[in-house]
Amino acid sequence: MRIPLPKIREVIEAVKALIVGPYTSKFPKEPHVAHPNFRGQPKYNDEKCVGCLACQEVCPAEAIDHKDLIRGQSIPKRKMIHYTDTCIFCGQCEAACIADHEGIKLSNDWELSFFDRKNSYEEIEKELQLCEVCGDTIACKDHLKWIAEKIGELSYSSPTLYLSRLKSLGIIDENIISALKDSGRSDRVKILCARCRRETTLTTK
Ligand code: SF4
Ligand code: SF4
Repeated sequence: MRIPLPKIREVIEAVKALIVGPYTSKFPKEPHVAHPNFRGQPKYNDEKCVGCLACQEVCPAEAIDHKDLIRGQSIPKRKMIHYTDTCIFCGQCEAACIADHEGIKLSNDWELSFFDRKNSYEEIEKELQLCEVCGDTIACKDHLKWIAEKIGELSYSSPTLYLSRLKSLGIIDENIISALKDSGRSDRVKILCARCRRETTLTTK
């Protein structure tokens, strides 16, 4: 029986492999580092995200959700939740993020295996601003601050915006405005939802 001889290309590759090592990686024995442009799991940035929900609106896979935690909480909060098992890594959330595309970003994290599907999510919390008259949710505090900064001096036409800004800067005390509870003219200088703003403007004298 004739034994086939290796081709020259195969010999060259075998010699090269002896010098530079094999083509394949040693994962999982050694961690695999993905290419910098790899489109992996999106990650929230707690510092940059303002809790506006734009990413949830545009997500085609409904992989982003939120929960507003108000009752029984000392500080009302919005939870932004990203479900890893539903995400298709399309990057629409990053593209739509109002916080300079930094609130949520695709990472190159590709190792997403898990034993329990219930654990396949990531979440961050943002503090909510409630109406100082009726207690309804207005928006996240960081979102109001973001709007006030974007529109600059125009924010002085809206007490909700300029008070949010001044409070975030520590220029006015959190509780000074809320202490005025005469349901009259002073309600106008409060952080209000749209309905209470309309009612205090139209009905108080
Ligand atoms: S990458 Fe696409 S599918 Fe995943 S959370 Fe963002 S928008 Fe949704
Ligand atoms: S700031 Fe960006 S990441 Fe945060 S909720 Fe808005 S769109 Fe989503």
